[in-house]
Amino acid sequence: MNTQLYLRNALCVPVKGYNRAIIYDITRNDYYFIPNQLYDKIESTKAISFDNDTISQEWKEFLLEEEVIFEIDNSDEEHLFPKLELEYDSPFNINSIIIHDTIDLKFFKWLSSLELSCISILFEKYNPERLENLLDIILDLEINSINIYISEENRHFTIDDFKTFRYFKRPLSIFIFKSSYIDELSVNGYKVLSIPISFKEFSKKMQPQKLQVNREMFLESSNYHSYFNGKVYIDGKGNIKNGIYSSRSYGLLRELNEDQFNDIILSEDFQKHWNVKKENTLICNNCEFKFMCVDPREPIENDMGKWYFSEECNYNPFLSLWKGESEYKTLGESGISITHTNGISIKENILNELLEKIWD
Ligand code: SF4
Repeated sequence: MNTQLYLRNALCVPVKGYNRAIIYDITRNDYYFIPNQLYDKIESTKAISFDNDTISQEWKEFLLEEEVIFEIDNSDEEHLFPKLELEYDSPFNINSIIIHDTIDLKFFKWLSSLELSCISILFEKYNPERLENLLDIILDLEINSINIYISEENRHFTIDDFKTFRYFKRPLSIFIFKSSYIDELSVNGYKVLSIPISFKEFSKKMQPQKLQVNREMFLESSNYHSYFNGKVYIDGKGNIKNGIYSSRSYGLLRELNEDQFNDIILSEDFQKHWNVKKENTLICNNCEFKFMCVDPREPIENDMGKWYFSEECNYNPFLSLWKGESEYKTLGESGISITHTNGISIKENILNELLEKIWD
């Protein structure tokens, strides 16, 4: 009897973590957890056989149903299907700028000389008139989308708060935090997203609801840092920074003219963190979520040219558990520590005992 062969759909990409793997379905924006043993089988872009392999056999039907694999007649057909190209190229020199609403309006006019994809405006206290003034200027810019973040909590918003934007012609998302809104669905020209946690909790660390799978994100995070790449943050005092939780200021807006501002954000020094890849980042390089996560923590470079963080993520990729889940442990409690000589050290007796207790 001939062996039935299969090929993996090039747009369903398996990504390995320490304890499990994920198939990223990058065009249908979905993902599936799989064991690492199955990752080893389907990672190849060559023909796959499931014969004589009882564990993968159990997964075969699932993979066929989700169109992750498909049957082929013989291994020559491998060459008929194109591989996924991993190059990423953005038409914008700045993907996203985050700015507080209190910044001098003249600065918003400077943005017209940049090729900018998205602008996010942070309001500590929502002021519809101020937003209307800002949008009058922003509408002259050639940008794709606008996000409004209102960090004020415990407020009840109604359609009247956003009535100016009823017939807005650009994609406009309004995020409210620990506040209510009568209709969370898209209304005319804008959509309101009601987030049940504070802005700080939402923006500071990874949360499972912030994971996103799509082709753009996958390619960007395979080549660049998915949070810092193409990002500029201007804090409430006008400091130019890489991100909301970045410590270094590259200059103060009020002390600069437009050319000086552009020189700063287009400089190699400012853009250093843009090129920090997850594969070169300790702990994250063991995480199956690495190409779907937008992590704002500031990376620190060690003597070996690897990156690490002073604060732990909410996700422990060695145990596959989020903070708050029962049985969650910190990295230290799981036997993991960061070393400056060879990356990370794993006390396998501690980790294996925990993994057996949690997952067996
Ligand atoms: S460990 Fe790293 S890659 Fe994984 S979720 Fe946290 S920040 Fe993202």
